[in-house]
Order: sequence, then C-alpha cells, then structure tokens
Amino acid sequence: MKIHFLGAADGVTGSRHLIESAGSRILLDCGLFQGWKLHRERNWVFPPELRTVDAVVISHAHLDHSGWLPALVKHGYRGAIHASPATCELARVLLLDSAHLQEEDARRANRHGFSRHAKALPLYTRSDAQRALAQLVPLAPGHETQIGRHRLRLSPVGHLLGACAVHLTEPGRRGLHLVFSGDVGRSRDLLMPPPQPIRQADVLIVESTYGNRDHPEEDPAQRLADVVQRTVQRGGSVLMPAFAVGRAQALLLLLQRLRRAGHIDARIPIFLDSPMAIEATALYRRHAKLLAVPAGEMRGLCDGVRLVTTLQQSQRLAGSRFPAIIISASGMATGGRVLGHLKAMAPEPRHTVLLAGFQVGGSRGARLLAGEKAIKIFGEMVPVRAEVQQLAGVSGHADRQELLAWLRHFHQPPQQTFVVHGEPDASDTLRSAIRDQLGWAARVPAHAECAEV
Ligand SMILES: [Zn+2]
Repeated sequence: MKIHFLGAADGVTGSRHLIESAGSRILLDCGLFQGWKLHRERNWVFPPELRTVDAVVISHAHLDHSGWLPALVKHGYRGAIHASPATCELARVLLLDSAHLQEEDARRANRHGFSRHAKALPLYTRSDAQRALAQLVPLAPGHETQIGRHRLRLSPVGHLLGACAVHLTEPGRRGLHLVFSGDVGRSRDLLMPPPQPIRQADVLIVESTYGNRDHPEEDPAQRLADVVQRTVQRGGSVLMPAFAVGRAQALLLLLQRLRRAGHIDARIPIFLDSPMAIEATALYRRHAKLLAVPAGEMRGLCDGVRLVTTLQQSQRLAGSRFPAIIISASGMATGGRVLGHLKAMAPEPRHTVLLAGFQVGGSRGARLLAGEKAIKIFGEMVPVRAEVQQLAGVSGHADRQELLAWLRHFHQPPQQTFVVHGEPDASDTLRSAIRDQLGWAARVPAHAECAEV
C-alpha cells in the first residue's frame, strides 16, 4: 500500500490522502486549502497523482475535507464520491456556497482590479459543484460497500453532523486495514455524541488539530454571557463570526440556554445572518437523532432568532445602531457576509468581535486574535478598535488528551501511524505523545510525500 499525502500534511487544510493499493487508487478526502496564501495557492495546482482516481471517500463535509471536490470534477473525475448520508446533505449546502464565494471573489477582483492576473477566474463554479454533488453516493455508518476489491466502512467520530472515520480494508486474508480518523470530535460536545471507539487498524492516519493543546476547563456559556453583558452595557453589539455548519448551531444552543436561564436579556435581538447557517440549522434539526441534544431543544433552536436571508437585510443590519448579537459566516472571517459586519463594527470600540473555534494561520480571524490593529477587507485597510475575544470550549475538535484517550481504545498498536491535519507544532507534539504514552510507531509525513506501508 502506498499513501500519497497531498494535503493537510503540513497544516490543517486541504485534507487529501491518496491510497494506492491492490490495483485501486482511492482518494480519502478532497479538501480545500485555506489560510496562508502559500497554502491557498495549492488549490490552483492539479497534482499529477490525481489524474487517475478510482473512487473518493469524504470523511465529513467541512470544506477543508470536501471543498476541492468541484475542482477534481472540473479536472475530469467522474467516479463515485462516498460519504455518510448526512455528509452528502451538508456537502450540498457547503459546496454550493463555496462555489458561489469563488465566483464572487473572481468577480470582485475583476471589478476592483486587485487581481495580479489579467482576468481573475473562479477556482470552480456552481455548475462544477452541482456536478460533484451528483456523484455523491451515500453510505450509512456501520454498513459496508466495495470499492474495487476493497471494503469500505464508516464510523461516527462526533465533530460535525455526519462526520465519520473511514475504514478501508485491502482484499485477501493478509490485506491491510487502514483507518483514517477524519476530524475527531470532543468526548463532551454541545451538539455531537462522543467519537465511537475504534479497536483495530494496521495503518492509521490521525488528525492533530489540537495535538499540542488541552482545551481549557472554562465554561463557554459563562464567558459568552460575560462578553454579551459587558458589550451591551457600553451600547455595543457582539459579532460572532461562526462556521455556518456546526458552530452556528452550537452558539444558538448556548444563547438559547442563557436566555432561558435569564443570563442574557431576552430583549437583545439575536440575528442569524447567513443563508447557509439557516439551511444547515434546518438540517441539524432534521437529523436531531444523530445529535446529543434533546429533540425538543433542537426544535426550539431558532425561537425568537431573527433569520436574515437577503443581502439587503444584512446590509441594513450592518448599519444598525442598536445592541444586538449577530452570528454570521464565515467562521474565520475569510469571506461571506460577516465581512460587511466586520467592516462596520471593527473600527468602533463599543463592539465586540467574538471568535469561536479554530482560526487557521493567515486568516482574518487569526490576525484579529493576534491583535493586529488593522485588517484588509475588500481590498481596503480597516482599523480594529473593537474588543476582540475568543470563545474557547466550543471547539469541535478533540484536544491532545481526548485524542490520546480515543487512540487508547485500539487493542494493539497499528503497524504505522501517520499524524496529519495539524500545524507543525501540533502534529509533532501529538506524534511524540503517541510514541511516549502509547509506545506506537508514529510519524508526521511531509506535504506531497509518498509513504509505502
Ligand atoms: Zn472538520
């Protein structure tokens, strides 16, 4: 078996692992590179290894795992894309939005002339995304299907609606069993059940987003209540850039609980300003049985929340003077409607920008957290005088201790463990923890490396 690490090998984005085994070429994840420009530029390069792919498997719908599918299809891939049923549904929401953003970016660059190229082209279009979506083949977790002579199975790992680890077994009695963790969720998550234990693998590819950190014990609800109270007292609004899928629903759940408990004044309006988050919220409510939240609570998730659907409504909201709580995407402020709010709110000290979840290096979210005094929005430098805070404890990723606890379920050490999907320090810290605490052979592959196992 050969593994080509074509993404998420020196960072957290662009997850793509090509497995070459028993005459088949199977791509695990087909993610978009985000964050650092150096990484984003990889989206425009078509790796020759991907010229002939027999099947694709997607661990979950987050764009860093699925967002390059339309580009692969644009380059001629016509085969099956296997994913859990909920991932297929979420991918529809995420990929169409991603294509829309790609088209918008190209249009804006052309209009304002801030592309270095003569004419900016989108990475892919909505019709490429539609085509990719038509190639999705749902596979229920726990069920098995064949890819060529390989057996494929998915098992839930918390993290995000539909998120699964991928189990791929080579043919024959001595065939290797490969497990790819995808992104592993927390043992106690607001929305998702804990990741299902996995007992056996010969080859393991494991994520390490938080491989060098333990999440603080801090109660996110308390902190959220504090931030909202403080901001409203000085006449400001709270802007929460949030991933439309997963994080936005977790924040709504927290806000509803705080409102019910009287910790947030119920008169402060809550706006959900993201068509994608609105759609994803409907999906979460429909799949409530996959969640760790009582169905009744999920049904009431949007009670009293104002859903902002049109761009005009969003622009009006950005100009409003009244204290409000605004949840808008994207979560790292890399694009989407949140930029309009950020542009309006960042210069004013009465407001707060509350970032929730991982902020990849190079993103506006990471720059805000680093305390940069001005950030570029729509080609223009915008001063940052608003309070910038981070809400810890709502991460969808297992931390170092939780990852190790999940790995301890394995009955025997895998022959080889590859640590991926982390910033270099995170991956290396998890690698040494796996070696020292579990005694397993583990290593961090390099980008574009091909490993033979
Ligand atoms: Zn993810």
